[in-house]
Amino acid sequence: MLTLYDTTLRDGMQAEGFALSVADKLRVARRLDQLGIRFIEGGWPGANPKDEEFFRQMPGMTLNQAEIVAFCATRRAGRTAAQDPMLAPVVAAGTRWVTVFGKSWDLQVTEGLRTTAAENLAMIADTIAHFRQQGKRVLYDAEHWFDGFRSDRAFALATLQAAQAAGAEWLVLCDTNGGTLPHEVSEMVAAVQEAFPTAALGIHTHNDSGLAVANAMAAVEQGASMVQGTVNGYGERCGNANLCTLIPNLQLKLGYACLPESGMRSLTTTARQISELVNLAPDDHAPYVGLSAFAHKGGIHVSAVQRNPRTYEHVAPELVGNDRRIVISEQSGLSNVLSKAASFGIQLTKDDPACREILQQLKTLEQDGYQFEAAEASFELLMRHGVGDRPTWFTVQDFQVHCHQGAGYEITRATVKVAVKDSEHLTTAEGNGPVAALDAALRKALIAFYPAIASVHLTDYKVRILNSDAGTAAKTRVLIAFSDHQQRWTTVGVAENIITASLRALLDGLEFGIRRTVLG
Ligand SMILES: [Zn+2]
Repeated sequence: MLTLYDTTLRDGMQAEGFALSVADKLRVARRLDQLGIRFIEGGWPGANPKDEEFFRQMPGMTLNQAEIVAFCATRRAGRTAAQDPMLAPVVAAGTRWVTVFGKSWDLQVTEGLRTTAAENLAMIADTIAHFRQQGKRVLYDAEHWFDGFRSDRAFALATLQAAQAAGAEWLVLCDTNGGTLPHEVSEMVAAVQEAFPTAALGIHTHNDSGLAVANAMAAVEQGASMVQGTVNGYGERCGNANLCTLIPNLQLKLGYACLPESGMRSLTTTARQISELVNLAPDDHAPYVGLSAFAHKGGIHVSAVQRNPRTYEHVAPELVGNDRRIVISEQSGLSNVLSKAASFGIQLTKDDPACREILQQLKTLEQDGYQFEAAEASFELLMRHGVGDRPTWFTVQDFQVHCHQGAGYEITRATVKVAVKDSEHLTTAEGNGPVAALDAALRKALIAFYPAIASVHLTDYKVRILNSDAGTAAKTRVLIAFSDHQQRWTTVGVAENIITASLRALLDGLEFGIRRTVLG
């Protein structure tokens, strides 16, 4: 069994355009745990308030099997580990495991740290020994290890020796600049194997040469038993090793056990959910998990694939939870609709005319910019509508939003006219923004009829601008997450006007909440 180590929440956060709230970091961690990742690097306790908060909230989260790891640098030069204020928050974070990273490259020691080789070795050893004394288990990340080995072999090996002797249980070789080639990785990992025959080795690669996955595989072939990477390859510059490519390569191609089969089958969903959480458009052409990874277009391919999928597919899409998409036929779409319906408990068969209608509507909406991947509640409502199981709980007949802003004040007020059970209600409410004001005004009208709506609240709000080359005529896609303490659901709305898009998502969310509480 290979050990998987995810650093999406630490190295991945370095990616341009990547932002995660603390709540979303916790959600990502939960997804990774469900996937079957063994180690999840949560961040650097004390480095910024967000990481601090993550580690504060983390103990409240129950995980199936994963271990959250705190990350930090070695102590600073010229002081003891116990005196270094940077290390105290790492101990306080309360994780069982700590990853310490240290310098392996003489250039980094003299130019970066401006200290001596001997002091660098002491920094590695002292820091690890300090954490060991606090009862922690330690992974050692050897930063720039491959560049270090090229520059001064003996010194690079000495850093690993210092880490191992001080009690590090894993020695992780990092290609921090991402410039190493697979055959060099093979040679250098083999040299480490020879020098440390009993050590557990890990590999951490970056994609600056487009080789992060290939380099990690080369290291595994030489005996490394831990791979580090990020979901969708997020990371600074060109990214880290993409676990969504690396894991299937190792398990399906080379026979290294990485994930249980159920985890492997949830890989595609995980990749897409995490891209939604981090609010970065998913790469449709990503290997294994991309929307187009198993899409077939053009007559000859399609007929060959229909006869035998192996003609144009290197693996079966279902192994990684992806779908074969025949672009010119509706057949695959139909089966998607059917399997989704089953998962919502909706009775639907292939010959049911409602099935084709739902599919048609789905296509039109997707053309308009809707995406239901991360908005299952909206999709469920759409399907229920198709099969005639969508009662009208309320109708918004009119709405207005006013924003008043002046020196030192800002007020947003929404007015809605809602029809509920044969009566009309005009309500007004204020909020700290247009969505909050609309939400409050709607609730005022609905709560007398559906009191349980009081427990439904908005937990997240995300906006993405589609076809942004169209400037202000661009469409806006809004995703809103709701929770009623028992269940969480997400809805989507699309419109050119951001308020209209938000209202659509909001209405779906409230309808879903009412439906849940009234119908159970
Ligand atoms: Zn890195």
